[in-house]
Amino acid sequence: MSGRAPSALRQRLPTIAEVLATSTRPLFSFEFFPPRDETSSRQLWQAVRELESLGPDFISVTYGASGSTRERTITATEAIAQNTTLRTVAHLTCASQSRDQLRRVIGSYAAAGVRHVLAIRGDMPGGPTEPWVRHPEGLANATELVALVRELGDFCVGVGAFPDPHPASADAELDARILVAKAEAGASFAITQLFFDVASYVSLVRRVRALGCDLPIIPGIMPITNIRQVARFAELSGADLPRTVTERVQAVADDEHEVRRVGIQIATEMSEALLAAGAPGLHYYTQNRSRATREIYANLHR
Ligand code: FAD
Repeated sequence: MSGRAPSALRQRLPTIAEVLATSTRPLFSFEFFPPRDETSSRQLWQAVRELESLGPDFISVTYGASGSTRERTITATEAIAQNTTLRTVAHLTCASQSRDQLRRVIGSYAAAGVRHVLAIRGDMPGGPTEPWVRHPEGLANATELVALVRELGDFCVGVGAFPDPHPASADAELDARILVAKAEAGASFAITQLFFDVASYVSLVRRVRALGCDLPIIPGIMPITNIRQVARFAELSGADLPRTVTERVQAVADDEHEVRRVGIQIATEMSEALLAAGAPGLHYYTQNRSRATREIYANLHR
């Protein structure tokens, strides 16, 4: 890693909210997850360096669901904030943590020069459909976490949004009202769960606008790079893949290179359609690899 000045000591970059308000072009951003071991740490850093060269508007680092993963999240997020030129968004969830524990994590992000937090509720160990139980001294939902982060410092706060209804609510109108409540609590932007139907994104934006809320909603895109992901999709997002997508991927299921090529093609088409529909940016779930994202980026900038 380089010996650059920590981001806190560098000139203050405009926040994502400021960039969204002034930019005349869509934002590009990438999500990473904290590494498990030395090998995955090398893979993460290679992806970070390769994608840094594309000049993304921000990158984000997910927050682990359990104790040891959380420590790795904090360490990885701080390292990226301090050793790259990237505007870094630290995810934070309130699952199984007291207010005091959350305050400490927020304090360590601030000390590392991280000025952006993605305030997310998190899930129970069984996943998004397992009934949520709040920590006895913790928070009820992401809306309360937005308020806590805003209260503790000069943070620009993002939140999650759901083009396919959240598996626990399965109610698109309720999801839109919850998103508006997050904006009212102080969120400046939202990033969506992965999805494959552009019409669902457009409907979500329309519902939120109908409630009088202009929160920028950045679509989250996960390129399909192998056939196993297709099966895992519903597990991750709670929604089934649309048939138009599964048919194209299943048609080449025997050839892993073709699956990848078709997956990149689908993600490129989706990105173009989302921009045409007015999306303020595109956020890619990189899975700590750079190649698929670089290929889509190149397709979009041809
Ligand atoms: P909330 O906004 O709190 O909503 C969750 C559900 O709670 C709602 O669907 C609804 O059923 C209910 N609810 C909330 N508020 C109300 C209300 N006012 N009235 C009635 N019902 C309500 N998970 C991780 O563990 N780590 C991560 O880093 C992470 N990053 C993510 C990034 C993005 C962009 C997204 C979209 C999700 C991410 N997740 C992450 C997954 C997330 O934890 C789950 O999707 C979780 O189930 C919902 O989180 P939320 O912030 O949307 O919760």
